[in-house]
Amino acid sequence: MGTTLADRLAEVRQRIADAAQRSGRTAADIRLVAVTKYASAEAARALVQACCRDLGESRPQELWHKAAQLADLPVRWHLVGHLQRNKVRRTLPLVRMIHSADSWRLLEALQREMASAEQASARQAPDVLLEVNISGDAAKHGFAPGELPGVVARLESLPDVPVRGLMGMASAEGGLATARRNFAALRELRDRLRSVCPRGTSLDELSMGMSGDFEVAIEEGATIVRIGSALFEGIA
Ligand SMILES: *Cc1c(COP(=O)(O)O)cnc(C)c1O
Repeated sequence: MGTTLADRLAEVRQRIADAAQRSGRTAADIRLVAVTKYASAEAARALVQACCRDLGESRPQELWHKAAQLADLPVRWHLVGHLQRNKVRRTLPLVRMIHSADSWRLLEALQREMASAEQASARQAPDVLLEVNISGDAAKHGFAPGELPGVVARLESLPDVPVRGLMGMASAEGGLATARRNFAALRELRDRLRSVCPRGTSLDELSMGMSGDFEVAIEEGATIVRIGSALFEGIA
């Protein structure tokens, strides 16, 4: 008997629950975002029908495309990859969360769009996470950790951008021990940033952990995990 997407989902949810328990939490404290970038629209549809409503894409154009194909379903879309400023306007109405605010210029573009009348009259503005380049990998997007205190202190000038936390990816090298160090560093950075946070801004969300390292990320405090291949590999 072949594995189905529902089996994969159950397996991943069990692993999330076990890791949550090891960190003194429950599965309900961790949000699973299923990253569909390797999956067909049909596989993504099957996953939503199996009750996984948070879907993520790393490319805005692919997100637009899949959102249109699944428009009849109650999907909460997450953008987890780089957002070009000229794609802000079309992306904002489609998503519940942008995990990947990676420059001040993009934050300013989000502010302009979120403050505009069109956006204000539409649904609630999506939550925004600041992407941090925790591994120091030059090929990765994100703010350098050292930039973050200045950025967070200036969030007051972006009153319409609901910043809720941080996102990071572990180094591709070094295995789980390095990943754990990267994730712990992101959590500690978040804890330090709380003292410079403008009033009304909370940094409660930590989006960290992918198929290869999500259990370690949860043990280190992740509130959101972004999982693609563990769900779809060999199926989609
Ligand atoms: C592709 C991707 C993921 C999921 O990766 P897997 O290793 O397949 O789970 C998570 N986050 C981001 C930003 C991605 O681009």
